[in-house]
Amino acid sequence: MTRFARVEHEGRAAWLRVDDGAVLKDAPWISEQVEGQVDAARSPRVAPATPSKLVCVGRNYRAHAQELGNEVPKEPLLFFKPPSSLLAPSGTLLLPPESERVEHEGELTIVIGKRGRRIARERALEHVFGYTIACDVTARDLQKKDGQWTRAKGFDGFCPLGPEIVTGVDPAALGVRVRVGGQVRQDGNTRDMVFDVPALIAYVSSAMTLEPGDLILTGTPEGVGPLVAGDRVEVEIDALGVLAFDVATEARGPS
Ligand code: ZN
Repeated sequence: MTRFARVEHEGRAAWLRVDDGAVLKDAPWISEQVEGQVDAARSPRVAPATPSKLVCVGRNYRAHAQELGNEVPKEPLLFFKPPSSLLAPSGTLLLPPESERVEHEGELTIVIGKRGRRIARERALEHVFGYTIACDVTARDLQKKDGQWTRAKGFDGFCPLGPEIVTGVDPAALGVRVRVGGQVRQDGNTRDMVFDVPALIAYVSSAMTLEPGDLILTGTPEGVGPLVAGDRVEVEIDALGVLAFDVATEARGPS
C-alpha cells in the first residue's frame, strides 16, 4: 500500500508520496519520478485528483435505495459531477441558498490508472490505480425538483475528496462510516454494493473511455441525512483513512 496526496508546494499543486514526503514530477499513475521533498504533515492539502470526469453511481446499496423510496436499479444508474465540485480535504462546504436540504453521501471512490474502453470485468482491476474517499453532497430538494441531477449534485464544493489515494487495497469488503458532529449517521460496508467495483468499471467503460485520473464514485450506504452550517463531517473508510470537512452557509453574490 502506498499513499499519495496533492499539496500546495512552491505556489502550485503538486503530487506527494506521503510515506517519504517525495514531491513527484507528474501524477503517480504517470510516473513516480521525484523532483523534491516536503514535510508531508505540514503541507496544505488540495483534492487528490485532476479528473477528466467524475462518474457517479446512484442507488448502489439496496438499503439506501429503499430509504429514499426507490427501486434497486437493474443496471448501474450513472450520473456526473463536474470537476469544479471538488473540495480539498479539511475544506469548508458552502451550503448554497438555492437549496433547503443538502445531504451527505459517503462513498468509496475508484481512481483509474490505465485508459480503457469496453473493459472486461475480469480485467477491470488492472485499470485501477487506487482508491480514495468522496462525499457525494446532494441538494435533495433540487434533485427531486429538477428531475436531472446535474445541479443538485454539481454545486462548487459538493465533492469533498481525499485525504489520500491508497494503492493495493482490496475494495470488496471495506467499512464505510459517516459521522456528523461525532454522531454516526452512515455505517455500511462495500460488500453490500449491488454492483461491485469490477462490474462498475466494465459498465461505465462500455459507454465511455476511462482516462487515467478519472474517478468513479460507487454509491452510498443507507443513513443519508441533512447538513447544516456549523457541522463537522467525517467520512471514514477502512484502509483509506478519514476525510473531514466543515459546513458553512454560502453568501449570495459573485465570487
Ligand atoms: Zn451518491
